[in-house]
Amino acid sequence: MSQSTNESPRTRDDWHTLAGSLSLETRAFIDDVFVDAVSGETFTTVNPATGEVLAEVASCDAADAEAAVTSARAAFARGGWARLAPAKRKKALQRLADLMEANKHELALLDTLDMGKPVSSSLGDMAGAIACIRYQAECIDKLYGEVAPTGEDALALVLREPLGVVAAIVPWNFPLMMTAWKIAPALAAGNSVILKPSEKSPLSALRLAQLAREAGIPTGVFQVLPGFGHTVGKALALSMEVDCLTFTGSTAVGKLLMQYAGESNLKRVYLECGGKSPNIVFADCKDLDKVASHAAAAIFHNQGEVCIAGSRLLVENSIREEFVERVLKAAETMQPGDPLDPESFMGAIVDETQHRRILDYIRQGVEEGARLRTGGQAIDGPGLFIPPTVFDGVTPAMTIGREEVFGPVLAVFGFDSEEEAITMANDSVYGLAAGLWSQDIDRIMRVTRRLQSGQVFVNNWAGGDQTTPFGGVKQSGNGRDKSLHAQQEYSELKSVWISLAP
Ligand code: NAD
Repeated sequence: MSQSTNESPRTRDDWHTLAGSLSLETRAFIDDVFVDAVSGETFTTVNPATGEVLAEVASCDAADAEAAVTSARAAFARGGWARLAPAKRKKALQRLADLMEANKHELALLDTLDMGKPVSSSLGDMAGAIACIRYQAECIDKLYGEVAPTGEDALALVLREPLGVVAAIVPWNFPLMMTAWKIAPALAAGNSVILKPSEKSPLSALRLAQLAREAGIPTGVFQVLPGFGHTVGKALALSMEVDCLTFTGSTAVGKLLMQYAGESNLKRVYLECGGKSPNIVFADCKDLDKVASHAAAAIFHNQGEVCIAGSRLLVENSIREEFVERVLKAAETMQPGDPLDPESFMGAIVDETQHRRILDYIRQGVEEGARLRTGGQAIDGPGLFIPPTVFDGVTPAMTIGREEVFGPVLAVFGFDSEEEAITMANDSVYGLAAGLWSQDIDRIMRVTRRLQSGQVFVNNWAGGDQTTPFGGVKQSGNGRDKSLHAQQEYSELKSVWISLAP
C-alpha cells in the first residue's frame, strides 16, 4: 500500500513520485485471502506509455474459478450478506466508498499505469466509481416490494430476492469505473460477486479487494480472479453454480457468453457491448466552435477507447466544410502526452494489439477512399501513442464507417435532410449512444424518438449521472448499468399468494 496515498499529487512529478512508491497486490482474492493461482501461472502487465513491466499477476483458470464459486455459494447460503438487514449492507458499502475516496489517487494511478489513460481522466473515473457505490448503497433500504391488488380473500406479495452468485466480467478501458457499475448494484441487492477484471488492467481490482476486506464485506461475498477470458472468464460463464453473468466488453465476446449460458444453466446474461455511435450536427445548432470542440472530445477522450465514443460525426452538408475545419482546430489541442501529466488530454493506447488494430483501420480508411484530414501515423516510441485522426467523406459502405475502431479515429459523413441523417444514424448493428445538436425543439423530439439507441444526448455528449440507466439496444447489448434499474436487475421476483380465511 502506498504511504503517500492521502496527499494530493498535483504535478507530473508528484504523480511520478507516487508511482515510484506503490506496492502492488498481484494475487487473486479468494475466500478472503490473497493467493497465487492454483497452477502457479502468472501473466505480465505492462505500462503502455513506457513499455515497462509493471507486475507479474496471478493467472487464474478453471480451478481458481471453482474455488471462488464454492466460496461465493457458501457465503450466499450462510446469509451473512444476502439476509443481512438492508441498512447494514448499506453501511458496509458506504465504508467501501469512503475507503475508495481516501485512496482515490492510488486507485486512479493504478488504472493509468495499467492501461495508459491520462491520470486526470482516471481521477474522473474514480469520482464516478465512488458515486456509483454510494448511490447503490443509499438505495438499498429504500426499495420496497409490492402488495398486489387482490380481493379480500387473499394477500399477495411480490418480493425481491438476490439472485445468488453473480460473475462480473469487465474490460480495460475504464477498469475501476466499469467494475463499480457492475459490483455496486449486484452487492447492494445481496448477491455474492466474483469479479474478473481484464487481463490488460487487473491492478485496481486487486487493490479494491483489499479495500472491500477492510470495509467488512464478509468472506466469499466479493472475490477477484485476474486472468484471461478464454480460461477463467469462460470457466465462470460455464459454471453451473453462477446465477448471473454481467459483462461489459466486445459484442463478439458477449455473443460467446450467451452461448455459454445456454450450454450450462441458463444463467442470466447482462451485456454492455460495443458501439459505433452517431453524433448528428444540424446546421441550426448554436455556437459551432463549442459544438466542434464537443464533437472532437466525444471521440478523442480516453484515446477513443470508449464504448460510447462519438465515432461517426454526421454533419449537415451546408456547414460541413467549415465545421470540419473547426473540429480539426479542436483536435489540435487534444494531442496525446505523458499519462502522468495532469495536462495531457490523451494518453497511450492500451497495448500493441490494439495499437496495430487501430493503425490497420486507418490504413483501410485511406485504401477505401476516405479523405484523411489529420493524424493517421503512430507517434514514435517509447510508448504506444496515436494522434487524433480525422477522416472526411466517409460513406456507410466503408469499414471505418461501420466497424468499432476503439481508437482516436473520427469518421465524418455528410447529409442533406433530417430523414437522411436518421437513416444513416440507424444504419448500424450497434445502438449504444447517439447525439444531436440543434436549436429546434420539434426536430429534437422527432429525431430523438426515432434514433435506435440506449441513450440520446441532446446538445451535449455523454451527459448523465447515477440516476439514469446506461446500456444499449441491438448488438450493443441488453443490460442496464446505474440507477435503480441496475439494482433491480440483480434480484429475482417471488410472488407469494396468502389465502385469508373469511
Ligand atoms: P473484450 O470483449 O475483449 O474483453 C472484455 C472482458 O471479457 C475481459 O475481461 C476479457 O478477459 C473477457 N473475455 C474475453 N473472452 C472471454 C471468454 N471467451 N469468456 C469469458 N470472458 C472473456 O473487450 P475489451 O477489449 O476488454 O473492451 C473493449 C470492448 O468493450 C469494446 O467493444 C467496447 O465498446 C466495449 N465496452 C462497452 C461498454 C458498454 O457499457 N457498453 C463499456 C466499455 C467498453
